[in-house]
Amino acid sequence: MPQKIVRVADWVRSEIRDLSAYHVPDSAGFIKLDAMENPYHWPEEMLEEWLTVLRKVSLNRYPDPSPAGLKASLGKVMNVPAGQEVLLGNGSDELIQMIALALAQPGRSILAPEPGFVMYKIIATMTGMDYVGVPLAEDFSLDLEVMLAAIEQHQPAVVFLAYPNNPTGNLFDRAAVNAVIKASPGLVVVDEAYHAFADDSFMGELGKHNNLLVMRTVSKMGLAGLRLGLLAGPQEWLIEFDKTRLPYNINVLTQVSAEFALTHRAVLDRQTQQICADREKLMSDLQALDGVIAFPSRANFILFRVSQAAEVFTALKERGVLIKNMGAEQGLLAQCLRVTVGTAEENAAFLQVLVRVIK
Ligand code: PMP
Repeated sequence: MPQKIVRVADWVRSEIRDLSAYHVPDSAGFIKLDAMENPYHWPEEMLEEWLTVLRKVSLNRYPDPSPAGLKASLGKVMNVPAGQEVLLGNGSDELIQMIALALAQPGRSILAPEPGFVMYKIIATMTGMDYVGVPLAEDFSLDLEVMLAAIEQHQPAVVFLAYPNNPTGNLFDRAAVNAVIKASPGLVVVDEAYHAFADDSFMGELGKHNNLLVMRTVSKMGLAGLRLGLLAGPQEWLIEFDKTRLPYNINVLTQVSAEFALTHRAVLDRQTQQICADREKLMSDLQALDGVIAFPSRANFILFRVSQAAEVFTALKERGVLIKNMGAEQGLLAQCLRVTVGTAEENAAFLQVLVRVIK
């Protein structure tokens, strides 16, 4: 009997077959400046204290399905206004997915400025929604006229605005963001993944608009390994999104480790301040280089343009420094690379190699 062949192409949706899986390069042995991570771990005694906490964890039990204590602690640290609700995700990526799952319907769209965070488009595609990318202006600001026209035309179910934006690093004009919130027929999610470095936020606007949600993550605060994101906003929306959440999405090690880390907030804050200071130094060092255009950043990374991005990226990699090649020949990101702010030593090593390779 010939073996029955069940064809992938007959069953897996064509949109999924056309996607590429989210690519994470192998970084072992590299000076790793590609993923906007905080480069610091904790002081030895804090690590010891943490291990003592972990020893008491019951791995044999399911985690708390909706950890009220952790939500309250995070809500307090992140200044979620009274009367607003909090929903937790396995990283903010999962929160984007939960929102899309709740809103998805044929013909409905997710709209976001471009260049922007790639997961908005990937998740739109995965959930069967349309995706509308609206070009930013030349200086990476929101092109409000174009944005409002696109909103009018596509009537998006949700607009994502990364504030600061990834990969450009800038904050959009507050008045322009407010105009988008007012003009949107559906939700607007202000994605504040890089809030720790930005010193600006829309959290205080919650409650003034019933279609505004603010998203945060602990990833850039030095806790990327935990996978924990937070969505803050009106209860009436979050109750619905909560129904798309898989049970026990925040594992028990994440729950206790995040609670623990928040009680040592000063350590995390010091690291963030150090990163901000080092960003300014890295920025002025980059701006001083001939052949490099570095764009101002309110995040923990810097976007910069060289004449031959692919060559510079490869040369850096061959010399042990991993950054991100934006991979664009044309458009707003043409010949652009993105470097994460590392330790002072890592930044110096990166610069030393860069100076050699752009000569
Ligand atoms: N939003 C933006 C703008 C990001 O750049 C990232 C990660 N790079 C995320 C959300 C996702 O963060 P996480 O899933 O780690 O919380």
